[in-house]
Amino acid sequence: MSEKLSKVLKAAGLDLLSCMQCGACTGSCPSGRHTGLNTRRILRDARKNRASVLSDDALWLCTTCYTCQERCPRDIPITDALLELRRLAVKEGFMLPEHRRISEMVEECGHAVPLDEETKQKREELGLDPIPETVQKYPEALQEVRSLLKACKFDELTAEK
Ligand code: SF4
Ligand code: SF4
Repeated sequence: MSEKLSKVLKAAGLDLLSCMQCGACTGSCPSGRHTGLNTRRILRDARKNRASVLSDDALWLCTTCYTCQERCPRDIPITDALLELRRLAVKEGFMLPEHRRISEMVEECGHAVPLDEETKQKREELGLDPIPETVQKYPEALQEVRSLLKACKFDELTAEK
């Protein structure tokens, strides 16, 4: 990316410069206890404008529980910064294959998890309409969803680059 990461984050109201690298965020991260997510390191790399932070798969391991943000002694909006970094990562074409697949499903069916035959059958057994009142029941509504996605260039954003 041409612009410096720290500047982009600052412009979004997410200033990381007061981070003192104390590690309280990493130490309190429930996801980091089980994965390679190291919040302190991600913030340091973003602050140092290391573009590699955007291609780091660990960026996607945050569950957005906001524990780190609540505990940061410098009141840094850590989780919000991680979300902004994800947004920038997608813009640069970095996305986990699973997320790309889910995006394709939203474009195809209007749902990240479309209804399958088994669920339809279970609904019927419960006396429900097999297809609920969603875009899956109304093709014209699905077309509207697709038009909206196209209008906001969702398809371009999530396409493999
Ligand atoms: S808790 Fe706050 S000050 Fe400490 S390393 Fe994390 S972001 Fe920086
Ligand atoms: S918001 Fe994300 S990075 Fe922060 S503690 Fe929760 S899982 Fe960890």
